[in-house]
Amino acid sequence: MQVKISHVEKTFAKGKNDTLHVLNDIDMTINEGDFVSLLGPSGCGKSTILNLIAGLDSPTSGGVFVNGKQVNKPGNDRVVVFQEAGLFPWMNVLENVAYGLKLKGFSNQKSAEKAREGLKMVHLGNFSTAYPHELSGGMKQRVAIARALVMDPDILLMDEPFAALDEQTRMVLHKELLEIWAETGKTILFITHNIREAVMLSNRIVLMGTRPGRIKKEFIVQAALPRDPADSYLVDLERRIMKELE
Ligand code: ADP
Ligand code: MG
Repeated sequence: MQVKISHVEKTFAKGKNDTLHVLNDIDMTINEGDFVSLLGPSGCGKSTILNLIAGLDSPTSGGVFVNGKQVNKPGNDRVVVFQEAGLFPWMNVLENVAYGLKLKGFSNQKSAEKAREGLKMVHLGNFSTAYPHELSGGMKQRVAIARALVMDPDILLMDEPFAALDEQTRMVLHKELLEIWAETGKTILFITHNIREAVMLSNRIVLMGTRPGRIKKEFIVQAALPRDPADSYLVDLERRIMKELE
C-alpha cells in the first residue's frame, strides 16, 4: 500500500474570528514496508497528520490518498496505536484484543484464536485472562499493539506510543516493534518528538518544523538493524537532526 499526502493545509477555528494554521503545504509519501518516523517538536502538527491518514479528520485543502483512493473515513486498513493504550477496563486482555475482530465479523472462536496469536507476537501469551489494571504501562502498550496487529491493517499508525514509558521499557518495546516489523513487513508511521527513538527505529525520518507545521527535511537512515546508539553514523545523524531543529 502507499499513502500519499498532497498539498495538505489544515486550519482550526480559534476563538470567534481567528484561525490557527496548523499544517502548511504538506507533501509526503509512505511506501509499502516503510518504517517512517514523523519527528518534530510538540505542537508542530504530527498528530494532525496522523489523524488525517487515519480518516479521523479531514484536510482544509489538499488530499490524503491510500492506494490512490482519497481517504474520507476511518478504515480497518489503517489502525492507530495511541500514547494511551485505551483498553476497556472491564474486559480481560484477550477480550480487548478480540473486540475489533468480532466487530469485523469474525466468530467468537475465530476472534479468540486470532487474539491469542496476536498476544504471542507481543510476548503476552500467558496474560489472556489478566485485566488491564493488573498490567504495567509497557504491557498495556503491548496489548494495544496486539489489538492493532490482529486487524491486519495495511499501515500501523503509531502516535507517540512509548512516550509515557520509562527509558528501559521503551528500549524493550523498540526491540519488539522491530521484530514485528521484520516478521510482518507492516508499513509503519511512527510519531515521536524523541530524536533518538526515530534514529533507532526507522528507515526514513520526516522532520517537521512549526508555526505553521511544515516538512523541513527528510533523512534516510542507512544503518542495519538492530542498531547501536553509539554507532558513529547514528550519533552524527542525531546531531544533524538536532541542528535542524534548533
Ligand atoms: P503534535 O502532535 O505535533 O504535538 P498536534 O497535531 O496535536 O501537534 O497539534 C498541532 C496544533 O494544532 C497545536 O497548536 C494544537 O493545539 C492544534 N490543534 C490540534 N487539534 C486541534 C483541534 N481539534 N482544534 C483546535 N486546535 C487543534
Ligand atoms: Mg501529538
